[in-house]
Amino acid sequence: MTAFRAPTREMMFTLQQVAGFSEMAKACGYEDASEDVVAAILEEAARFASSVIAPTNVIGDQTGVRLDPDLNVVTPAGFRDAYQQYAESGWASLQFDPEFGGQGLPFSLAIPVQEMWHAANMAWGLCPLLSQGAVEALSEKGSDQLKQLLLPKMISGQWTGTMNLTEPQSGSDLSGIRTQARPDGDVYRIKGQKIFITWGEHDMAENIIHLVLARLPDAPPGVKGISLFAVPKYLPDASGEPGERNDCQAVSLEHKLGIHASPTCVMSYGDNEGAIGYLVGEENRGLACMFTMMNNARLTVGLQGVSISERAYQQARDYTLERTQGTAPGEQGVSPIIKHPDVRRMLMIMKTLTEAARGLAYTGCVAVDYANAENLPDDIRARYKRRVDLLTPLVKGWCTEIAQEVTSLGIQCYGGMGFIEETGAAQHYRDARILPIYEGTNGIQALDLIGRKTVRDQGQAMAELIEDMRPFTGSLQSNCVLTAERQAKFDQAVAFLEDATRVVLERGNDDQFTGAVAFDYLMLSSTVTAGWLMLKAAIAAANDLTDQSTFAANKLTTTSFFIDHILPRCSSHLSAIRSGDDAIMALPEIEF
Ligand SMILES: Cc1cc2nc3c(=O)[nH]c(=O)nc-3n(C[C@H](O)[C@H](O)[C@H](O)COP(=O)(O)OP(=O)(O)OC[C@H]3O[C@@H](n4cnc5c(N)ncnc54)[C@H](O)[C@@H]3O)c2cc1C
Repeated sequence: MTAFRAPTREMMFTLQQVAGFSEMAKACGYEDASEDVVAAILEEAARFASSVIAPTNVIGDQTGVRLDPDLNVVTPAGFRDAYQQYAESGWASLQFDPEFGGQGLPFSLAIPVQEMWHAANMAWGLCPLLSQGAVEALSEKGSDQLKQLLLPKMISGQWTGTMNLTEPQSGSDLSGIRTQARPDGDVYRIKGQKIFITWGEHDMAENIIHLVLARLPDAPPGVKGISLFAVPKYLPDASGEPGERNDCQAVSLEHKLGIHASPTCVMSYGDNEGAIGYLVGEENRGLACMFTMMNNARLTVGLQGVSISERAYQQARDYTLERTQGTAPGEQGVSPIIKHPDVRRMLMIMKTLTEAARGLAYTGCVAVDYANAENLPDDIRARYKRRVDLLTPLVKGWCTEIAQEVTSLGIQCYGGMGFIEETGAAQHYRDARILPIYEGTNGIQALDLIGRKTVRDQGQAMAELIEDMRPFTGSLQSNCVLTAERQAKFDQAVAFLEDATRVVLERGNDDQFTGAVAFDYLMLSSTVTAGWLMLKAAIAAANDLTDQSTFAANKLTTTSFFIDHILPRCSSHLSAIRSGDDAIMALPEIEF
């Protein structure tokens, strides 16, 4: 497998010029996050990702994790050391509250940094990803006492966090959760089983704080009767250090298609007297608390799609430069396969989709910082909140779908060697396959977009998004970089999105229709938004007079490729939306 090199120039450009990071930092009072500081952080993260985390990737995939007879999870060689270095170097605390030891930097600055962790080793990166979500939920919903007890050690990375929603009978539909919570003085006793818990047990940190959804004895049925609890593996003692072992443990590990080095645990709570849990937020409001965690986690799972795509692209590019076969058109003698037009087509799809997905993910995360900025007027924050809500399913859904295409093409670029494990191309493909499933399947993301984020909002957030695309349609700015034909294609794609939104709003009360077209609507709106951001990037690169190098030319090439080869997909999505549910629901069940 080739070494991982983070594309820091591309990341910095996307963060600043596409997502508008510096503008946001100025508006939201992040004076310390100057361009120089951001560049220095990205360079240092790149060094850490390639020299410390990336070397653990292949060994992690090959050896995986195991549960020893005492029910301790043993992680692959190098994992624990990489995690210790990560925590000691302060990477865990970048975006968190200085009151609890955080560095107070923007959430969106932690995003390119995390992109590098996941590209270097996605299985390892899941541990910090889940911890970050737990810190967010506790910061927002925990009592002052609970925050003092847990946050400093979680923010420093000494303790990690998990998210415990899923039970055997309750996956996409959380209304069926059965884990019980019984009040016991100031605390609660938790009893039940959770499955698929990522990093639910491990040896990389001294304690693990599980955030667990459970039901109180008198709770109403369904999602309105779920509460959230913080359940430490070791209960903090009087001095805040890990003390007595709590009544919870991992009882088995799943054997999986990919991310072999990420322990996916069956967790048992309360085999004896009941695991001690502390209530987070109010009783019966647990799902709302958990959504604090899940929303940002959805953005970061989308980001994982960008990461694994970047890694697969780099590897395929390097291989196709070296491997020789046949004579490419216009060449003499044997050619590196990168010279063959069909191989170039595959690499261009990989590169273009990855750049576009990065633009979409970073833009969604910068909107999170705007939405959270207390110094901004309420109406501006509300607009950004709508933007975050709208972009979250797009980032999660689209960036993880393109990762399937990119990692699959990565294998194709290798030919037969792609199918052979030793090249490493297959690992990315296997690892990527979980992305459209966890953190809410992409089918559920699509329903969220069409139901909550479009129909219920009467199309307001989507109309605002389309409004922001307007200056890039027709004439004016875009014409200076695009041919008239490509400009027309972009304009048409925006018109398709408007048309599709109109159809969706007209038939928004028909659940069968919205369910049948939701995924196409998710793909259509994401593809158009990503195309708009590519165009924004091409214009920004062309206008950057300090740099008229190949960077601007490359940006224009990938944008043109996106418009010619990817945007036309919008037409088939629109066709599916217009034809609605007729064909989908036509077959009687028996004929499946
Ligand atoms: C490796 C791994 C790690 C995980 N990590 C965690 C974790 O840390 N914590 C945690 O709590 N969970 C975790 N999960 C669980 C994960 O979030 C669930 O698997 C996921 O939410 C889907 O639930 P399910 O598996 O029960 O599938 P189901 O809900 O049974 O869904 C099966 C299919 O039906 C579709 N479907 C279901 N309901 C609907 C509907 N209403 N409308 C349309 N389509 C529908 C789904 O989209 C899917 O295609 C993990 C899972 C895996 C495999």
